[in-house]
Amino acid sequence: MEHAGSTKQWLPVELLIHVVSYIPEKRDIAKLCSVSTLFNSISLPFLYKNLNIDDESSKNWYLQLEFFKILGVPRYSSIVTTIELKFCGKYACNKKKNSFRGACTCKDYDDQIGRLLNGLINLQSLYFNCNLCPGEDHHSYLDSLQPRKLQVFKFRCFCLYNQQEGVNKPGSTSLLTAPFMQNVTSLALMCPKRCLLDDTGRIENVLGQPNVLPALSTLAYSVLSESGEYKFPSEVLAARPIRRLYYHGIPSAAEASSPAQQTLEYIMSYDIMQWLPPIVTNYPRLYANLRSIGTITLRSSKEEDILHALKPFSILRSLHTIEVNQFISEDSEDFLFCDPTERFEPSDVLVQRLAQQHRALRRIYHVHRPNCDVQRKDATLWEQKYDDVWTKRTIPLLNQWEVVNGVLESI
Ligand SMILES: [Zn+2]
Ligand SMILES: [Zn+2]
Ligand SMILES: [Zn+2]
Repeated sequence: MEHAGSTKQWLPVELLIHVVSYIPEKRDIAKLCSVSTLFNSISLPFLYKNLNIDDESSKNWYLQLEFFKILGVPRYSSIVTTIELKFCGKYACNKKKNSFRGACTCKDYDDQIGRLLNGLINLQSLYFNCNLCPGEDHHSYLDSLQPRKLQVFKFRCFCLYNQQEGVNKPGSTSLLTAPFMQNVTSLALMCPKRCLLDDTGRIENVLGQPNVLPALSTLAYSVLSESGEYKFPSEVLAARPIRRLYYHGIPSAAEASSPAQQTLEYIMSYDIMQWLPPIVTNYPRLYANLRSIGTITLRSSKEEDILHALKPFSILRSLHTIEVNQFISEDSEDFLFCDPTERFEPSDVLVQRLAQQHRALRRIYHVHRPNCDVQRKDATLWEQKYDDVWTKRTIPLLNQWEVVNGVLESI
């Protein structure tokens, strides 16, 4: 690297950018930044483009403090396009630091996070995962964030929960109608139904207005009602053409058979076998656009049983991708109860037979979820790329949010 200062003469900048883009370790990119002014300007964006901040371990906490400092500088903060922010205040809140004997200082910490987010003007994806102590006035900065290119917003927070009705809100306006939300196409909500709102409304009312989040087409919906249930987003589906849905629960037959389902191309929920087969049998036209379904948790690992269980889905002419669980559920009511000794391992023959039964099928994502017995992080993707030839390869275990966002298409 002694001659790196004169690199400009022998390699075009475009090529250097291309080369740097293939360096997997941020450590190595950081080293490149100090080589020369040229390398600094080429490498820096790769260092800050996608940030993952998690304060769970003390090591990460010190790293995070560094990030807070660095990202106060516009030259760096403007580079960030994706941030995954997972914070619990374990090292920031006096109450948590002193085994719940001190006073909670989560509010100060939250304000710090707000200042950090406020500088990220070019943000495209925001994953906001809050585990702070309960507080009334957290996250008010979310109303006035700067980015205008935000497309993906994943929000998880229960710290505003357990507050009095109407008090659990960030600031005086509603997050869902904030200017920076206007271009969001993909939204995940994991929060109480009164979160994020300015009046006595509910999230499903607000999302049911077509002028709110007009570009929305992908929705992950885990909104907790007053009675502690995760309600199916019927009103949202009725109001706008949602194409991809992740729902944490089992919809009732009435909910699943409403005409609003017609636009759906992707459906992910923990155990679709509990509700989808009879619904597609009785209302085939409603689900004519379905291309991708999961997670399918089988009750038996016998080939004939599997083909029989999936038979109802052969009515779905566009069905291209299925996600099938590795574990077999003994209990059709409680799928969490699984027998670790019995596993679903698709054979070449079974995959061929499934492809005959489902003519458009091109992809089988073989996963283990939830991780109720063993911590398996790998998964297998079966694909049919050429006529009748199925191949398989190991890929990372994606979460269901990633699957509905189409990560399988680009992996
Ligand atoms: Zn606290
Ligand atoms: Zn929170
Ligand atoms: Zn299991």
